[in-house]
Amino acid sequence: MDYLFQNPTFTMACQQFDAAAEILELSVSDAERVKWPKRLVTVTVPVTMKDGSVRVFTGHRVQHNITLGPTKGGLRFSNTVDLGEVAALAMWMSWKCALVGLPYGGAKGGVECDPPTLAPCELEGLARRFMAEMIPYVGPNIDVMAPDMGTNEQVMAWMMDVYSHHAGYSVPSIVTGKPVVIGGSLGRSQSTGKGVAFLCNRALDKIGAEQNPRVIVQGYGNVGSNAAWSMARFGAKIVGVSDHTGGYYNPEGLNILELDAHVNEHQTLAGFGGGEAMSNEELLIQECDALIPAAAERVITADIARNLKCRVLAEGANGPTTFEADAIIEERGDIFLVPDILCNSGGVIVSYFEWIQGEQQLFWQEAEVFDKLYRILAKSFDQVVKYSQSRQISHRMAAMCLGVKKVTEAKEIRGLFP
Ligand code: NAD
Repeated sequence: MDYLFQNPTFTMACQQFDAAAEILELSVSDAERVKWPKRLVTVTVPVTMKDGSVRVFTGHRVQHNITLGPTKGGLRFSNTVDLGEVAALAMWMSWKCALVGLPYGGAKGGVECDPPTLAPCELEGLARRFMAEMIPYVGPNIDVMAPDMGTNEQVMAWMMDVYSHHAGYSVPSIVTGKPVVIGGSLGRSQSTGKGVAFLCNRALDKIGAEQNPRVIVQGYGNVGSNAAWSMARFGAKIVGVSDHTGGYYNPEGLNILELDAHVNEHQTLAGFGGGEAMSNEELLIQECDALIPAAAERVITADIARNLKCRVLAEGANGPTTFEADAIIEERGDIFLVPDILCNSGGVIVSYFEWIQGEQQLFWQEAEVFDKLYRILAKSFDQVVKYSQSRQISHRMAAMCLGVKKVTEAKEIRGLFP
């Protein structure tokens, strides 16, 4: 089946899965059944462009498993998207949801496009038409989308609107990460970044880091900016940030208010004068207590892993560390890893809260959202650390094993169907 997914991120997700399956001593039958996605949908998405021409985009949705409940996962608008990347992200969503105890299987979607080059009306056309094409395959109890790279609350609102038109009434729980005014949850937009910061701080506590740790954040979008702000509020010094245009480093600390004002005005960090400009690769290997990659996959390569100067690596992004880099980090033994499927799970946990609130039409206070979120994160963090110690395996493998084990057991108990 792997001929369908020619993509290095998919290869990496499989390498991680195979390693976990070996630790868990899964039979070949179990491993094959748990590994491969349940359903792949690829659609063409015609959109009328601003100049009146029609452009046909390609979109994908991969629903990885339906064993524990409906599938759940983000939708990405990006020019790196293909079926393999989406399948890898869907697999990771399965282990993530199982790890933190959510009643979901994993899913992911993506449309091949370059959002900054699209006019607002083109973006709207793309979002609306993609959802229209997905109607036969999604539903509040079938598959629920959420924002990811290149998509946001507005995109979710357009998609909810299309689905609701089709149903004839408002269906808020068809997507999560939508604006609060149409049934979104308080706290959802900050939840991934705040969750990353919460777990990063727990890791810093574990290693006995001093007060006011120095933090570098790669990616200044939804996850990266919220993680940076949250770390700063907890007393951290943000010494480096980057986005797709490059990075900035200042060992004395960047002025995060100025940084935010710059991004609000220019939409990118390009031209920010508050620190030494450098490439993304250089920024990752600067001195810091915690490094938070919160952008793309496979940015921490073997070479970079050898040169990392952080004590905590808190993975806000999905799949930022290659399989080879993982081996180096494990061998070094001096970096406390908070693996992606644990570290960025705050987003899907609050999406779950949003889904519950939508189904019940009963809305929670923000304090209740974060109280429940932090309890789940703290418990999952402790489980991963404990399992890693008891099995003498890395935090990544511990998190993977806990997630994979749960899905495997559920499949065994239910039978062959799901
Ligand atoms: P976003 O589109 O809001 O922001 C992405 C940021 O990364 C932007 O600042 C962009 O300029 C930067 N970027 C892109 N490519 C880069 C590169 N090669 N090097 C450096 N910077 C780069 O996306 P987001 O929602 O913040 O998602 C970021 C990561 O977090 C992704 O891996 C996503 O899958 C993961 N994630 C997001 C959520 C969520 O709730 N949004 C939840 C879990 C995981």
